[in-house]
Formats: sequence, C-alpha cells, structure tokens
Amino acid sequence: MVERTLSIIKPDAVARGLLGDILKKFQSGGLKVVATKLTRLTPERAREFYAVHKERPFFGGLCEYMSSGPILVSVLEGDNAITKHREIMGATDPAKAAPGTIRREWGKDVEKNAVHGSDGPETAAAEIKFFFKPDEIHSS
Ligand code: UDP
Ligand code: MG
Repeated sequence: MVERTLSIIKPDAVARGLLGDILKKFQSGGLKVVATKLTRLTPERAREFYAVHKERPFFGGLCEYMSSGPILVSVLEGDNAITKHREIMGATDPAKAAPGTIRREWGKDVEKNAVHGSDGPETAAAEIKFFFKPDEIHSS
C-alpha cells in the first residue's frame, strides 16, 4: 500500500552537513521525497510536536535540542513507507541500531539520533499536517 510519512533530519545532523547522505538513504530504500523544507521549531512548537512524550523525563532536553537549530522536514512516499522509513532509520538508540541504518551511522546518542519518523498512519497524517499544506506536497 502506498503511504506517506513524515521525516525530520534533526538539528545536529543538519549542522554536520548530513542532509545529502541521509536523503540518499531514503531514496536508495525506495522512498520518494514528495515535499521538503528547511525550517526551525520554536521551543513552543517543539513541545507541541512531541506532546505525546510530555510526561517522559527526556521531554525538556528533547524539546531544547529540537529547537536548537534548523531541521529538514520532508514527506516521504512509497509502499509501506512508514515501516520502511523506520527500518532505514534504525532503533531509537544508535548503539542498538542495525549496521547500515541512519542512526547507527550518524546518531550520536539516544537523544541526538539524527532523524525522526512517524510511527503509524494516524501520527503520520497529523505530523505531515503539522508542517505542510496539501498544495506543498507533490507526488510525481
Ligand atoms: N529520546 C530521548 N531519550 C530516550 C528516548 C527518546 O532523548 O530515552 C528522544 C529521541 O530523540 C527520540 C525521541 O525522543 O527520537 C522520541 O522518542 P520515541 O520513543 O518516539 O523514539 P523514535 O520514535 O524517535 O524512535
Ligand atoms: Mg516516536
């Protein structure tokens, strides 16, 4: 089934010049970039985006990190895009991520793990809407 999912390349990965390498991993894995933009979250918008984690001990640090610099947000499209994207990213903790995954290659630690990906159809739809208007998404 063709799906769409939201990708975020997180601030430290943007700052380290990894945009091209990371987008290439998505494309090599069969995902199409159908929308993309460089943007920046305010601390307030970061707290809104990660609201599901607001009771977790890492929430404050995570929101500070995610608003610390520019991020690249993209909509990825393809067969089973949500699961495929998460496979290409690897486990949340880079130390536990499989070889060849983005987080294993470029994640620094469990917080600064280079990328975000939606975890299901409902969150994907909500997260895409959080960043993009319908007319900013272009399937080829
Ligand atoms: N995170 C963290 N400490 C943890 C778990 C998660 O700082 O112990 C951060 C990390 O940046 C992660 C984000 O919170 O990507 C969201 O956590 P989630 O459990 O949703 O992991 P993901 O879906 O990103 O793999
Ligand atoms: Mg998650």
